Amino acid sequence: MADKPHIVILGAGVMGMAVAYRLLQTGAYKVSVVSEFFSPGTLSDRSVGIWGPYLPGVDKTGSEFQRVLQWGAETKTEMIRLMQKSPQNDWGIYISQVWMLSANKDYAVEDCPYHSICDNLFVVNNDPTSLPPGFNSGLSYAAPQVIPVRYLKHLTQKVLELGCKFVRKHVETVNSLLAELEKEGTKTDLVVNCLGLGSRSVAGDTTLEPVRGVLVKYPPVPHLLFRAFECLVEGEETYAVFRPDCTLLGGTAIKGDWTKQNKPEEVESVIKRNIKMIPDLAKYEHISDWSGLRPGRPNVRLEVDMSLAKVPVIHNYGHGGAGWSLHWGCASNVQELLVQCLSQAKL
Ligand SMILES: Cc1cc2nc3c(=O)[nH]c(=O)nc-3n(C[C@H](O)[C@H](O)[C@H](O)COP(=O)(O)OP(=O)(O)OC[C@H]3O[C@@H](n4cnc5c(N)ncnc54)[C@H](O)[C@@H]3O)c2cc1C
Repeated sequence: MADKPHIVILGAGVMGMAVAYRLLQTGAYKVSVVSEFFSPGTLSDRSVGIWGPYLPGVDKTGSEFQRVLQWGAETKTEMIRLMQKSPQNDWGIYISQVWMLSANKDYAVEDCPYHSICDNLFVVNNDPTSLPPGFNSGLSYAAPQVIPVRYLKHLTQKVLELGCKFVRKHVETVNSLLAELEKEGTKTDLVVNCLGLGSRSVAGDTTLEPVRGVLVKYPPVPHLLFRAFECLVEGEETYAVFRPDCTLLGGTAIKGDWTKQNKPEEVESVIKRNIKMIPDLAKYEHISDWSGLRPGRPNVRLEVDMSLAKVPVIHNYGHGGAGWSLHWGCASNVQELLVQCLSQAKL
């Protein structure tokens, strides 16, 4: 019997791990994940983890946005399926009723860019009994939400059980990695690039740039009506996400800023804006804060590249602030391209 094709996945964030799981589930491939960091050390682990396939740079009328909607819809359906089939909730998935709130404009359903794929979407205008004080309009939809570290721990366990090999390594170029693997006696048939922001150097993509975000952690705050808020306070997007393990306050989105350290004035601004939005938060103590660099790009890059290395490379990076919202849809798309690539290679 011929050997199974060996697929090398670069990167162990939510994208790399979702692709690894999809491929291993077929039983048709040997899979290795090569990455500098694994969970809990990736950006994906430190994200908020709420579904909402928002990609600000994408033209909402173009075909790229149709792809985003398709990936987003598939991801939502799969997350709900995983939640329902796990009575112990091993994946750590919850459904939240997300709210976008406004003090000075009336929302319409179309203000949610992905309204066509949302569940339980509705708008409330001028009804003070249904909205928090200070707001006259709200747009709400139901969304799966995860505790990223818990989800990735479970996914990692599943992937290892299916025989995945993990290699901890910094990748300079795809060809140098392939040469190293070959020296160790491992031949590679195809590479899937899920390096997130690391693709800027490895794939030479200068359209990829950081979009820096800060998150502030508070203890779990009991909030009976709303699980997540999002609105503009003093011109900046402000959100509070109530998770069972903590409350996360955001946000900032600073394009082109590579700074990984926290900036105290930003943390202060996030806290101030959130307390203005939800005065109850003032009763609680700030626990910690951190900053993350979203892999920002005008569009997600999900395509086959025959020229980067001596084997085909399928790129899957540049998901900006929506990697959690798109991971299963993108993994399925990668799988389709991979099947096409390998069958063409056989001809
Ligand atoms: C503050 C904040 C809040 C967010 N909230 C949400 C949210 O609520 N919902 C949502 O959908 N998204 C959210 N996001 C976005 C989400 O976190 C990202 O889109 C997602 O994590 C990208 O996943 P990834 O697997 O592509 O990248 P990553 O998680 O960054 O993984 C990349 C992997 O590649 C490895 N790597 C990189 N370069 C190299 C190299 N040269 N050699 C070897 N290994 C390398 C890394 O070690 C890592 O394992 C948020 C982001 C931030 C910053």
